[in-house]
Amino acid sequence: MSQQVQGVVAPGKNEPVRIETIVIPDPGPGEAVVKIQACGVCHTDLHYKQGGINDDYPFLLGHEASGVVESVGDGVTDVAPGDFVILNWRAVCGSCRACLRGRPWYCFNTHNAERKMTLLAGGTELSPALGIGAFAEKTLVAAGQCTKVDPAVAPAVAGLLGCGVMAGIGAAINTGDVGRGDSVAVIGCGGVGDAAIVGSRLAGAARIIAVDIDDRKLATAKTMGATHTVNSRTTDPVEAIRELTGGFGADVVIEAVGRPETYEQAFYARDLAGTVVLVGVPTPEMRLELPLLDVFGRGGSLKSSWYGDCLPSRDFPMLIDLHQQGRIDLGAFVTETIGLGDVEKAFARMHEGDVLRSVVVF
Ligand SMILES: [Zn+2]
Ligand SMILES: [Zn+2]
Repeated sequence: MSQQVQGVVAPGKNEPVRIETIVIPDPGPGEAVVKIQACGVCHTDLHYKQGGINDDYPFLLGHEASGVVESVGDGVTDVAPGDFVILNWRAVCGSCRACLRGRPWYCFNTHNAERKMTLLAGGTELSPALGIGAFAEKTLVAAGQCTKVDPAVAPAVAGLLGCGVMAGIGAAINTGDVGRGDSVAVIGCGGVGDAAIVGSRLAGAARIIAVDIDDRKLATAKTMGATHTVNSRTTDPVEAIRELTGGFGADVVIEAVGRPETYEQAFYARDLAGTVVLVGVPTPEMRLELPLLDVFGRGGSLKSSWYGDCLPSRDFPMLIDLHQQGRIDLGAFVTETIGLGDVEKAFARMHEGDVLRSVVVF
């Protein structure tokens, strides 16, 4: 029996979001219906609304979510009704060339539910944001998008691991391979950058330099574990990072902005043979120009971090455990909890840089 629930829909390019009645079909083979408990408001939701991802309106927004599995389709064995889960947007296939080589975090053939959620009015098919669509009381996903974690953790905290916080922590611990005693610089201290700081601290980095153009964000970065801060509006960040690292540059520089000028800063702010991690997401028109001799001569590695190169089944339960033990504070990323009707307002606050995360709680 299909069900009707309320959800936040972006109807068209730059139109305000609306709460609509949506129809959730029963889960098909390999699928699950999840009763959402919390879902964070991410920049990617705003990009969907603005038409920055694609034109497949209407979108059912929301993708940083946790909830309880309500029902599962045929053949689902990894999760069962009643399980508390974090949703992920990369359900790995297990059979592509990356998965077969033992690198499932790169899976080139991730999948979503095949059955479609629709608008009650007119029956229009919805495009769920990142294959999730969790600004809704319930949503339909591929069962592989559900990762079971300790139900003792607050849903608003758990959901954030589903996207931005995992991307940032993973950029440090998975992609950047930050190690004990390393120096790390993080350029751009929004939610992802701050999570990279938390990840660097967890990995034992000795020096963590936060770079941003907003002093409010630098103050927050300090509470997340930055040992030094640099305002790049008033100070040359490359010079400042070199000064703070004995004149050499950082072992790992994490670029969490996604712009050519900040990438260039990251490129020159690292030590010889150091690592640059790009976790900020650029737009299609951006171009990068660097002397190829410097790319060669400075050595090291230039990496991109997809979703923190995370493997949800490995990383989500581990990070929830560390949070429960007090070794990382994921709760610090929740600036406010809001209702389903407040998403448009939350976009405005996010745009102004007032919040790390607003989280819709059901
Ligand atoms: Zn795969
Ligand atoms: Zn996101």
